[in-house]
Amino acid sequence: MSHRIIFATGNAGKMREIRMILEDLGCPVLSMKEAGANPDIVEDGATFGENAEIKARSVWDCTGDIVLADDSGLVVDYIGGEPGIYSARYLGEDTSYEIKNRNIIERLAGAEGEARSARFVCNIAAVLPDGQVLHTEAAMEGQIAYEPAGSEGFGYDPILYIPEFGKTSAELTIEQKNQISHRGKALELMKEELKRALKGELV
Ligand code: IMP
Repeated sequence: MSHRIIFATGNAGKMREIRMILEDLGCPVLSMKEAGANPDIVEDGATFGENAEIKARSVWDCTGDIVLADDSGLVVDYIGGEPGIYSARYLGEDTSYEIKNRNIIERLAGAEGEARSARFVCNIAAVLPDGQVLHTEAAMEGQIAYEPAGSEGFGYDPILYIPEFGKTSAELTIEQKNQISHRGKALELMKEELKRALKGELV
């Protein structure tokens, strides 16, 4: 029996990346819109994992099949893990990332070197046809830069300095970033989990 994989996102860029990575599972990969689902989702979890699961389950309630969702954000150790699950809402949803990024750099004024450690984290949840839930999580490690740099990517990319490249995430090419990104790594891990599940009781 063949399954559809539905990804609970409206973001076209994410769908492209997801299709590329999950292609060899041999299942059609649809966005929630393509699957005809448009639920009201209240992301009130306390962790990336809880929020990913809330999104996946809300769509699964409308569609069944295999539903995946991700939740991600920037975790900065010096400021107690902020903005974390509030990354998109930090200083207000409509505030520009230029302002959000400047603000985070200002809050790290007293921190040097290792004390500036930070990472992008991504948790992916999958709800299987029988309602069972799987999770994978991965991070992209770095440090908060002293100045924003680069114009690739989005969000907090200009302020996450990646020591192994000597560049911020916004100075990496899309290909470089996809290879080391939190989302890319969590998706690869999820692909392996799904392969196991599809080999087992799902088929
Ligand atoms: P969501 O998982 O799409 O809701 O993303 C949450 C927020 O985390 C985004 O709006 C960004 O602010 C931040 N974020 C997540 N991943 C990245 C990334 O790869 N680069 C820059 N910012 C990111």
